[in-house]
Amino acid sequence: MNDEVKKLTCRETTYLVCGARDEALTPAQHSQLARHLQGCDACRVASRQFADLFAQLDVLFAAGAGPKTK
Ligand SMILES: [Zn+2]
Repeated sequence: MNDEVKKLTCRETTYLVCGARDEALTPAQHSQLARHLQGCDACRVASRQFADLFAQLDVLFAAGAGPKTK
């Protein structure tokens, strides 16, 4: 019940970064994610790469090249 001390693993961080695309993070998840990224270079780089990838996917989907999700 104590979100303040919960530390995310790198795996959980990656999961949140990916999940944030489909579902908004809770404020607690946001702060956990931000805190992990502050102290973890690998996840900081990974989250940036995910952001780039998602941006590219959005362009593809907008152009009608991707699978329809609805
Ligand atoms: Zn990490």
